[in-house]
Amino acid sequence: MSALLFDLIVVGAGPAGSAAACTAAHRGLRVALVDKEEFPREKLCGGLLTLRAQKVYARVFPRAWDEAVEARAHGLSLLGPDGRRLNEVREHHLLQFTCRRRFDALLLDQAVEAGATPLLGSAVQQVDDSEGAVRLSDGRRLQGRAVIGADGVRSSVARQLFGRSFDPRTIALGMEMEVPRCHPGAADLDLPEIHFGLARWGYGWVFPKRATLTVGLGGLLRHNPQLKTAFRAMLAHRFGSVPDVAIKGHHIPYGDYLTRPGRGRVLLCGDAAGLVEPITGEGIAFAMHSGREAALAVHEALQGRTEPLAAYLPRYRELVQDFRIAKGLRQLIFPRLCEPLFLRALPRLRQAPGRHMDLMADELGYPAYARYIALSVVARGWRKLLPF
Ligand SMILES: Cc1cc2nc3c(=O)[nH]c(=O)nc-3n(C[C@H](O)[C@H](O)[C@H](O)COP(=O)(O)OP(=O)(O)OC[C@H]3O[C@@H](n4cnc5c(N)ncnc54)[C@H](O)[C@@H]3O)c2cc1C
Repeated sequence: MSALLFDLIVVGAGPAGSAAACTAAHRGLRVALVDKEEFPREKLCGGLLTLRAQKVYARVFPRAWDEAVEARAHGLSLLGPDGRRLNEVREHHLLQFTCRRRFDALLLDQAVEAGATPLLGSAVQQVDDSEGAVRLSDGRRLQGRAVIGADGVRSSVARQLFGRSFDPRTIALGMEMEVPRCHPGAADLDLPEIHFGLARWGYGWVFPKRATLTVGLGGLLRHNPQLKTAFRAMLAHRFGSVPDVAIKGHHIPYGDYLTRPGRGRVLLCGDAAGLVEPITGEGIAFAMHSGREAALAVHEALQGRTEPLAAYLPRYRELVQDFRIAKGLRQLIFPRLCEPLFLRALPRLRQAPGRHMDLMADELGYPAYARYIALSVVARGWRKLLPF
């Protein structure tokens, strides 16, 4: 069978892949967008869309995303392990909540409208990084001039380049349940909730959707061998009983990003490169951002100016420089010694939830946020323990 010819083959049609395909197609490249699933498809996710995500989205996709938004809020509530409200902010930045089935389909539609060729329902099985070619599970062979691996945390493209998709010592696990609004305690949600102290090196969340509340708990896997038990306890405490709905789990590359995101003609972006923010766990914005940057790098390289990876590296390094700060900062929040201090300080830090939302809206830089956490949260926490 002869190969189908493209300039760029994008593997995975999640936010990273559709952003890459849409960006490249708008710049005139012949793009194949391959996904193992038919769309619309499910993807386990809290579905929180920050203003940061909205800003990135607007730089890539022409249509507004409103049709995929199920709920909106302007604040956030932070709770302790006993369910007590430690702090909150109201009437601040907009938070939006989507269901990924609809959101990802909207992104894919726009990549196709931009001119990308969708090849759905066949998994990529083999990638040749020196040739820029891939083989699909149905036997078809695609020949490109570059490949972008955007196939998520269990990336088969990353596995073929580096022998594994992620490091089991640094990966996180997230569990979620869609609690129907008719369940006791789920009809109304005053504010989206973040629950601290229920998972080690992680947190819990309760986010609004139209017909359900998305309830989740996540944390670094090696620190949470009993995550499901902790999640059931969270559900029982929050709703009076564990709702009779399936619990689902998925890995999260929580701060586990690659230092070298590709090889040869192949670039990695989104979860395949480990681009989930190390404190907030936000991934959609960084997936779309890195997908765009990878596509721009390929476009530049194909104009003969440089190699794809050489064009991608400076863009990628700029993106992960904030992750390096966030990774350092979480050493002040999550370790066993620090977390109780952080939780004790939280009720007295009136600005903390607002600052956190400013960060997620991309209106406060990571260096300024780090200074705030280091000076106020940790200093106050320690002061409380001292006898003078
Ligand atoms: C429980 C949980 C809650 C989360 N909550 C949030 C949140 O509220 N907000 C937020 O911003 N982020 C959240 N995240 C993170 C977010 O879901 C990810 O960061 C984001 O989906 C990454 O996008 P992506 O395009 O890189 O990968 P994905 O969205 O995983 O898409 C990868 C695509 O690749 C396809 N694929 C995989 N293998 C192959 C193959 N071999 N061949 C072809 N196609 C393939 C898949 O079918 C899929 O469509 C959460 C994650 C989890 C697990």
